[in-house]
Amino acid sequence: MSLATTANAFYREIRSAASFYAGHALSRIAMLAILGIWIGAYFMNVQIPRMVEQTTLEFIDLTSRETLNQIKDIRDTYAETVAKGKPGQSPRSAMRGAEPTHVPLPIEFIRGITERMSGRDIEVRIVSPFPWPGQPPAPMDGFLNEAWRQFRDDPDRIIAMREGTGLDARYRVAMADRLSSPTCVQCHNEHRDSPIRTWRQGDVRGILTVATKVGHAFVEAGERARLIQIWLWATCSLTTMLMLIAMATVRRKELAKQKAHQDLIFLAHHDAMTGVLNRIAFHERLHALIEKPDPRIEAIFFVDLDHFKRINDEYGHEFGDAMICRLATTLTGTIGKDGLVGRLGGDEFIVALHRGSAQKHADAILRALAEPTGYRDQQVILSASIGIAMGRDRAETADEWIRRADLALYKAKIGGRGRYAVYSEDLDEAQAQIKRIEAVLRNAIESETLDVHFQPIWDIQKGLLIGFEALARLADPLGGMISPALFIPIAEDNHQINKVGEIVMRKACTLAAKWPAPVRLSVNISPAQMTTNRRLTDLVEQTLKASGLAANRLELEITEGILLDQNEHVMADLRRIQEQGIRIVIDDFGAGYSGISYFWKFPFDKIKLDRSLVKGAEIMPGAKAATLHTIMELARQFSMEVTGEGVETLEDLQFLKQLGCHQAQGYLLGRPMTPEHAAALTGSAGGKVPGTEFIPARPQAA
Ligand code: C2E
Ligand code: CA
Ligand code: CA
Repeated sequence: MSLATTANAFYREIRSAASFYAGHALSRIAMLAILGIWIGAYFMNVQIPRMVEQTTLEFIDLTSRETLNQIKDIRDTYAETVAKGKPGQSPRSAMRGAEPTHVPLPIEFIRGITERMSGRDIEVRIVSPFPWPGQPPAPMDGFLNEAWRQFRDDPDRIIAMREGTGLDARYRVAMADRLSSPTCVQCHNEHRDSPIRTWRQGDVRGILTVATKVGHAFVEAGERARLIQIWLWATCSLTTMLMLIAMATVRRKELAKQKAHQDLIFLAHHDAMTGVLNRIAFHERLHALIEKPDPRIEAIFFVDLDHFKRINDEYGHEFGDAMICRLATTLTGTIGKDGLVGRLGGDEFIVALHRGSAQKHADAILRALAEPTGYRDQQVILSASIGIAMGRDRAETADEWIRRADLALYKAKIGGRGRYAVYSEDLDEAQAQIKRIEAVLRNAIESETLDVHFQPIWDIQKGLLIGFEALARLADPLGGMISPALFIPIAEDNHQINKVGEIVMRKACTLAAKWPAPVRLSVNISPAQMTTNRRLTDLVEQTLKASGLAANRLELEITEGILLDQNEHVMADLRRIQEQGIRIVIDDFGAGYSGISYFWKFPFDKIKLDRSLVKGAEIMPGAKAATLHTIMELARQFSMEVTGEGVETLEDLQFLKQLGCHQAQGYLLGRPMTPEHAAALTGSAGGKVPGTEFIPARPQAA
C-alpha cells in the first residue's frame, strides 16, 4: 500500500469517526468532558506553582510569627521574673558589665537569644532606632523603617515582606517590641542613662524581626509543583485515553450493529446468489420510479437465458448457478448506473433502464454474453433473449411493465432466441391467443384427443407410395384446426412437447403397424424432445414393441436445431436409435443454417429438401438449381435418400424428378389426410404418382 492510499484510508477513517461521534449523544458528552478536563488541567497547571509557593510562604510566615511571639514571651517573662528585682527596689538589671551582681537588661538577654536562634537560613533580631547610651545605633533598612513607621500608627500590626530574588530571596516578618510590663516602663523612666523619661506601658520600644532565606524552599516548592503538574498531565492523559478507548469500543460495537443491520436489509432486498435486487425489492423500486411525478423509464428488460434447463441438465446445477451469476454480472456490468437490475427467479432477470438507449444496451448485453464462459474446466457460450418494454409506451403499474417485457421476451424466444424483441400492442393479442392454444392443447393432451394426420410420400422415380409423414393435428373448439406450426413452438416453450411427441408417436405407430409392410412412417421429433427428455430411445423402443411396427419402417425427422450444439448425449442417442434400424432424416434441409456441413455431422439416412428450396427452382435455374445439384451429388456419395417437400405444381415435381430426387411430398401429391384415408391409400396406391400422368419419364442422371 502506498503512502498516499494509507493517508487516504486514514483520512477517511477519521472523517467517518468524526461524523459518528458528532451524531452519538454519549460520545458528544464524553468529548465535552475531555475538553473540560483539559481546560481545567490547563488552568490548574498555571496555578500550581503559585499555589505551592504560596503554601510554602504561608508556612514560613506562620513559623516566623511563632518565633517572634515566643521571643516576646521570653522577654516578658524575663523582665517580670529575673530583671524585676525586689519590691521597692529599682530594677536590678543593668548593662552588661556595669555591675557584676546585676543581671543583664532584657534587651541584652534577648539579643543573646536571637543570636543563638539565628542560623544559616534564618536571622532573628531585635533592633531599635531609639538610642540607648552605650549601644551602637541599630542599622535600619527600608523594611525596618517602614515597619517602625507603621507600628507607631498601629503597634499590633505584623509586617511581612518578600525580598530579593532566586536563592537570595528572603522573607521578612516584623513585630513591634513594646514595653509590656510595668517593670520595663519603670526601668526606662528611672534609669540614669535613659534619654526619655515619659515611657508608658505599651509604647513601642523596638522591632522584633525574623528574616528567612526562602530561595531554597522555593526551589523545592518548584520541584514539588512540577511533580504535581506531571501527575496532573498524566492523570488527564490517562483519563482521556480511557475515555477515547471507551468511545472507540462504543463506536466499534455500534458500527458492527449497523453493519449487521445493513446486511440484514441488504439480504432482505437482494438476491443471495447474485447480489442483484430480489423480486420484491425490484418491484418496490420500480413502483417508486413510476410514482415519481416525472418518471424516467427508458425501458424495462426481461432477460432470460436460452436453453437454461438444458445447461442445468447437462452440466449440473452448480454449473447452472455459475451461469446465472455470469448473467447477473454481465447485466450489472453493462447496465452500470444506467438502471436497476433484479432477479425474478431461476434464470429470469429484469432491468429498469433509466438512461441511455434500450437497443444499445440490449446489444451490449447480447455481445457480452457471446464471449465463451466457463466454470471449473467446462466452457459454454451463453445466449439470452431479451424482451423490451419501451418507456415511451408508459405502463401504469410495475406489473404491467413486467408483463409487457415478458411478452416481448416470448417474441424474442420464438423469433429464434439470442436476440431482443420490443413489445407492441399486437403482442397482447398474440399472447391471448397463445394462452388459449395452451389451454386447448392441455385439454387435448389430457383427453388424448390430439390427432394425427398423414401426408403421403412418393417414390417419384418408380411411381410408388413409400410412406406417410405423421403430422399432429389439434382441433380448435371454436372450429377448424390449430396449425402445428403454431402449437408445436408453444408446446416446446411450456414443456408440453414431450407429451405431444409421445401421443403422436404412439397413435402413428399403432396405425402404421396396420399398413402393408413396405409402407413407412415418418415422425417429427422436436429438438426440445431430445434434449429435455433423454428417454426418447426408451419411447421409441417401447412404442415399436407395443405397436408391433418393424423398426425399419420408422423414420424420425429431426431438424438442424438438434445438431447445432453437437451435444454428445444427443448424438449418442441418435446413433443408438439408428443402430436398431430406424432411419434418421434431416428435415427442412436448406431452410435455416443447415448446409452441406451436415453431411459430415451425422450419417443421416435421408434428407428432406425444404419447401423454400424446391419452390420455383425450375424457374430460377441459376444458384438454386446449382445448390440442389450439389446436394444431390453429395447425397449419392453418402448413400442418402432425398425427399423434396412442398411440391405444389407439376413443374416442381418434374424438376425434382429430373434432378434425380428419389421421393417427393406435397399438396400436389396428397394433402395431410385422416388415418382412414391414409389406410385406404395404402391399399390402392402403387405404380402411379397422383397427377404425374403427363410427366414424361426421363432417364436418371448417372
Ligand atoms: P414439417 O415437418 O416441415 O411438415 C411439413 C409441413 O408442410 C406440414 O405442415 C404440411 O402440411 C405442410 N405441407 C405439405 N405439403 C405442402 C405443400 O405442398 N405446400 C405447403 N405450403 N405446405 C405443405 P403442418 O402439418 O402444418 O406442420 C407444420 C410443422 O409442424 C411441421 O413441418 C413440423 O415441423 C411440425 N409438426 C407437425 N407435426 C408434428 C409432430 O408431431 N411433432 C413435431 N415435433 N413437430 C410436428
Ligand atoms: Ca417433417
Ligand atoms: Ca419439413
